[in-house]
Amino acid sequence: MFENLSDRLGGVFDRLTKQGALSEEDVTAALREVRTALLEADVSLPVARSFVKSVTAKATGAAVTKSVTPGQQVVKIVHDELIKTLQGEGEPDALRIDNPPAPILMVGLQGSGKTTTTAKLAKRLKDREKKKVLMASLDTNRPAAMEQLAILGTQIGVDTLPIVKGETAVQIAKRAKQQASFGGYDVYMLDTAGRLHIDEVLMDEVQAVRDVTNPRETLLVVDGLTGQDAVNVATEFDGKVGISGVVLTRMDGDGRGGAALSMRAVTGKPIRFVGLGEKMDALESFDASRVAGRILGMGDIVALVEKAQEVLEVEQAERMMKRFQKGMFNMNDLRSQLEQMQKMGGMGSIMQMMPGMQKMAKQAEDAGMDDSMIRRQIALINSMTKKERANPALLQASRKKRIAAGAGLEVAELNKLLKMQRQMADTMKKLGKMKGGMLKQAMRA
Ligand code: GDP
Repeated sequence: MFENLSDRLGGVFDRLTKQGALSEEDVTAALREVRTALLEADVSLPVARSFVKSVTAKATGAAVTKSVTPGQQVVKIVHDELIKTLQGEGEPDALRIDNPPAPILMVGLQGSGKTTTTAKLAKRLKDREKKKVLMASLDTNRPAAMEQLAILGTQIGVDTLPIVKGETAVQIAKRAKQQASFGGYDVYMLDTAGRLHIDEVLMDEVQAVRDVTNPRETLLVVDGLTGQDAVNVATEFDGKVGISGVVLTRMDGDGRGGAALSMRAVTGKPIRFVGLGEKMDALESFDASRVAGRILGMGDIVALVEKAQEVLEVEQAERMMKRFQKGMFNMNDLRSQLEQMQKMGGMGSIMQMMPGMQKMAKQAEDAGMDDSMIRRQIALINSMTKKERANPALLQASRKKRIAAGAGLEVAELNKLLKMQRQMADTMKKLGKMKGGMLKQAMRA
């Protein structure tokens, strides 16, 4: 999978990383090629567009890290953006299969690989999570499909619900639910009937089954080879029956991979698994960073940039520490601290970590030191001149007025900020006299 996309992108970035200095045009041209490569891989246009836009914004704003080239940095940005596109923000939660017996509803079009995937997933839950699984086929139109599931069940050692002729899908679902409870199963999987196309009858049936079983997971199985069609199918199923995740099958084939890249961005639903062959073990859980790595094939560069960024952060922290030890703490230092706080989620968390700061953290909290306040304080510091930032003691009443006005705030707020900076400088001086090691430890915490 992704071979073509990978080749195309590999070519673009090979050229980019070989160049020492990069002009904006170089990056723009490269990103234009990235966009074309994504479209050729059947990624939907809005997704390709927003991908390139986001990478462009980050590439222009990126802090240049020593010891890597700008091209390498762009590779890392593209890599991170790929992961974000593939999985959205944050990691997906584990499958919800607690509270036995947990129903899993398998839905999808006929031929998508639904029955095969049901069995693969059942085997996986049995082998890896030691779950007792029951499978039931609801495909009343196709006796062969019911038998296929029974055969697979025998093959992988997972129970299937005995076939009773003449039952409706809802009746089978109810029986599966009962059997799962009485039989002490952890999970029961319902392999619903597929159709060649989405039609109302199919959707009504799936809805009815959903309503009597209340599934914890509704997994849509789609053929990864069908590209944007797969994404459209997902959008329709989600609208009609609500899905909790997607399984992309036939990702072992020479599909262009676009389905994987558009799926999350378009449907908002996580890809849970990918099917990589016909064998019962050919199911992998979906790992966005591994897929991004495969697409880019530039793992070395990504690791290099990550390392360089770490080094940069440590260097910055050490530089600041040296200043603090000397009791130097001006508005520039305060601003970086405030920016850090923004990043780390508020005042309290950082101050709590530093010795001697707990009291101030409490004061800050009492004073309503929240995110909006941090933003206002940064705005005030930005309104100062370079000299004033380095030595805030220079500030006279008239300048204070101008600065406050520049940030659209009252002078009282600026006075509070100045007081805070003086207090922090004092504390730093005291800490500096303590053993350096302790401060170092506190800073690293
Ligand atoms: P259903 O109609 O959706 O239940 O589809 P089936 O489960 O019967 O699968 C249809 C065909 O696709 C079978 O021959 C499967 O072996 C094959 N198949 C399913 N998943 C994969 C996959 O991930 N890779 C490959 N290469 N073939 C698959």
